[in-house]
Amino acid sequence: MADDLMQKVISLCKRRGFVFPGSEIYGGLGGTWDYGPTGALLKKNLKDLWWKEMVQLRDDIVGVDAAILMNPTTWEASGHVKSFAEPLVECKICHERFSADKPDSIKEHEESHKGKKVEWTQPKQFNILVKTYLGVIEDQKKPVYLRGEITAGVHVNFKNVVDSTRIKIPFGIAQIGKAFRNEITPGNFTFRSREFEQMEVQFYIKPEESEGKKWFTYWKKNRMDWYLSIGMKKENLRFRDHEDNERAHYAKMATDIEYKAPWGWSEFMGIHHRGDWDLKRHSEYSGEDMSYKDQATNESFIPWDIETSAGVDRSLLFLLIDSYTEEKERIYLKLDPKIAPYKVAVFPLLGNKPELTKKARGIYEKLKPNFMTAWDDRGNIGKRYFAQDEIGTPYCVTIDYQSLEDETVTIRERDSKKQERITVADLIKKLKKLNDQN
Ligand code: ATP
Repeated sequence: MADDLMQKVISLCKRRGFVFPGSEIYGGLGGTWDYGPTGALLKKNLKDLWWKEMVQLRDDIVGVDAAILMNPTTWEASGHVKSFAEPLVECKICHERFSADKPDSIKEHEESHKGKKVEWTQPKQFNILVKTYLGVIEDQKKPVYLRGEITAGVHVNFKNVVDSTRIKIPFGIAQIGKAFRNEITPGNFTFRSREFEQMEVQFYIKPEESEGKKWFTYWKKNRMDWYLSIGMKKENLRFRDHEDNERAHYAKMATDIEYKAPWGWSEFMGIHHRGDWDLKRHSEYSGEDMSYKDQATNESFIPWDIETSAGVDRSLLFLLIDSYTEEKERIYLKLDPKIAPYKVAVFPLLGNKPELTKKARGIYEKLKPNFMTAWDDRGNIGKRYFAQDEIGTPYCVTIDYQSLEDETVTIRERDSKKQERITVADLIKKLKKLNDQN
């Protein structure tokens, strides 16, 4: 049943242009995925909503967009060169490699060898940073890493941001961007990829226990509320506090937000109280003073950091699974209109009547500058509704012969399938209201 739902979502993603396997015509590349026309819109909407909430609407967070390639010392300071590793084990029968941390995939693999006793090599630490080379002279190329997480690009700019803005503690730095991990076992569709995107805020506070607790609790609630506000079902979300033995040694508190995925509860974002670990380490390795001077009290200190780190791709995957709805005669994505790739679709009732097409085209051109608007004049209306339902378009508008006479159209709502006749002016008002809610 769970596999069944996953297969249905994957198949919808392919047939409706949300997600395709990366470089598919060449046989793909494990752990990479390409977002198609609808997927790219959905992803952009998610990131735009996040940025608006975090940066545009708040006075205490500013955004940055740091380079993916960084001086390699960064990753020594952050601890990634030494310990960004997974325990790798190899199947002695077929030599396929797995992470010992993922017991489900190990069990599945053992079952694939039906009846044979599977033995595994001893776990070896395998660093998952992706290495590449920069430089124009072949044998003098310098090894660098594709960032394993986007966090470091924020911490190394801490001083630059303080010196170039009017921001005062407590404050945050937001960033959205790609990260790369040489995952041993990519899988569950986009859930575990080798190239993915993150959206993070590093929120710097005074180094005091009470401040730490206050802001950690604040960000937990803030992030859960946000996912609910973009339409995720409450019953499919939960917090999971990290056990003492899974928390990084420097982390004071850590919680994941998990989704009830078809294969079990799974993390898609984390809230971490990282103390002063990052800034202290970057200070130590770079020789730069990373302390902050409080202008009011003249006190200098290394701030503590409360991090919220979300996966863009995992958030999108769970939004798609969460909104996937089947009815007797149709499938639709019950996406919040804020996040839906298209807000409205426009159809002439019949595709082969120039007078209807002309009128419909006029309305389409009017809507297009303000809302992502789809156009469809193929096949019959039923098929067009079916296609828009599958990509989660909240409204479909049909232009018929009456429209030519009285400037009215039929608007059909996705979830209820209810249709009503309204004027073009009211249609624009209705859609504007949707936009204003964003
Ligand atoms: P996991 O335990 O699943 O490997 P993690 O704890 O290593 O994840 P973090 O380093 O905390 O993940 O990264 C923050 C977020 O980045 C995760 O919650 C997830 O949404 C996303 N993320 C991490 N690794 C991947 C990946 N391989 N593919 C897609 N998203 C990822």
